[in-house]
Amino acid sequence: MKNEKVAIFWFRRDLRLQDNTGLYHALSGEEKVQPIFIFDEEILSDLKNKADARVSFIHQNLSDINESLKTKGTSIKVYHGKPKEVWKQIVEDFKVHSVYSNRDYEPYAKERDEWVRKFLNAKDISFYSFKDQVILEPGQVLKDDGTPYLVYTPYSRKWKSVLQKNQLESYSSALRFDGWNPSEFKPPTLNELGFELTNIEIPSSKLKDEILEAYAEERDFPAKGSTSKLGVHLRFGTVSIREIATRAKEKSEVFLNELIWREFFMTILNYYPDVVSNNFHRKYDAVRWRNNEEEFQLWCEGKTGYPLVDAGMRELNQTGFMHNRVRMVVASFLTKHLLIDWRWGEAYFAEKLLDYELSANNGNWQWAAGTGVDAAPYFRVFNPSEQIKRFDKDYQYIKKWVKEWNTDQYPDPIVEHKMARNRALDTYKNALS
Ligand SMILES: Cc1cc2nc3c(=O)[nH]c(=O)nc-3n(C[C@H](O)[C@H](O)[C@H](O)COP(=O)(O)OP(=O)(O)OC[C@H]3O[C@@H](n4cnc5c(N)ncnc54)[C@H](O)[C@@H]3O)c2cc1C
Repeated sequence: MKNEKVAIFWFRRDLRLQDNTGLYHALSGEEKVQPIFIFDEEILSDLKNKADARVSFIHQNLSDINESLKTKGTSIKVYHGKPKEVWKQIVEDFKVHSVYSNRDYEPYAKERDEWVRKFLNAKDISFYSFKDQVILEPGQVLKDDGTPYLVYTPYSRKWKSVLQKNQLESYSSALRFDGWNPSEFKPPTLNELGFELTNIEIPSSKLKDEILEAYAEERDFPAKGSTSKLGVHLRFGTVSIREIATRAKEKSEVFLNELIWREFFMTILNYYPDVVSNNFHRKYDAVRWRNNEEEFQLWCEGKTGYPLVDAGMRELNQTGFMHNRVRMVVASFLTKHLLIDWRWGEAYFAEKLLDYELSANNGNWQWAAGTGVDAAPYFRVFNPSEQIKRFDKDYQYIKKWVKEWNTDQYPDPIVEHKMARNRALDTYKNALS
């Protein structure tokens, strides 16, 4: 095997065989294709929870891919380590002709890929990367003067006009692995990776027509469960964005608009990587966060005495998901009512959300805190009780997640709404003055 030149296909956040752009191009070349995956120690070592559902999700999907590949006479080689070390090993293990992958726009991934590109090029190995996780990537939707949009609505208008000129291609006819009977690679077990199985369930990757049809009317009501729950699948590429966007285009413009928010925040992160640790608008650096650790803990546990906030946090803790409307409410509550730095909330979400995505999480947290691009103005402070009247008026969602609500066991509010609202307004005003 080592004597035969191969093209490597490097799976990352594109864990599917169907409609996978980079894989399609790898398979269209002359060389036989060897798929690989790297469990990246740089990322895994930061995860606190050994039963992290996202790791078992990746692991399960790799096993499924491997089973399919075996029927085609090949298998995926799974590595575990720091990518720079692993790549040195890969070029030992195989006679590599070229490497194919799909592009990733996060700062860490861009830096990693640049290193890999240089490393391979120095060995006369080509590194090809393709657009796959988005419909339109950063750089394809820019203002006429060539700069990125900082406001969603004109961005989305331009996005739609650019899309009209580009067909939504599909790469699903791609699976032409030629059987070449390599030794069968056995992926490491979860335990070998230092992780354990979780009992958190992953939502289905099927997008039902009924979801799209009712989306515009029902998406804001958490008790209805009428959103797609595709976030985790879009994150890891277990569904194709092209397939989802094609269906959204046919059936629900409102849903399509949400997919465009996803690409808007990816574009912001791509051009303004500083947002990872800083306010997009630096004038908010002067906000004096209270950062009370006990209050933060009560927020995390869903014990603030504000039932919609508590229901959301408990849903998150128990399932790894939280409805978007409720995410907005809990984020506004943390940053405005408690005056806790949005970065604390962002980090907690990053640990817990199955669909955690750096660009969307950061963009939405900064939106809620009023510090981001196209953010809610700082003086918009959600009233958590009013939000119940509008979006959970029968307390269905609250009763599901906060069993002791309306009993003696349920805590009093940790902060009084009117006082907290005024305190937030004063704090922001002072920062800007
Ligand atoms: C504080 C806060 C943090 C968030 N963190 C994340 C995150 O880490 N990862 C994440 O994918 N989304 C995040 N969102 C956005 C949104 O809440 C989730 O995408 C959505 O709730 C996921 O559920 P769904 O798949 O059922 O979404 P649906 O309503 O079915 O939407 C379909 C898809 O559109 C995209 N989308 C929808 N709303 C947004 C949005 N506001 N911004 C960007 N993309 C969007 C997602 O990919 C989503 O899966 C956050 C929102 C808030 C307010």
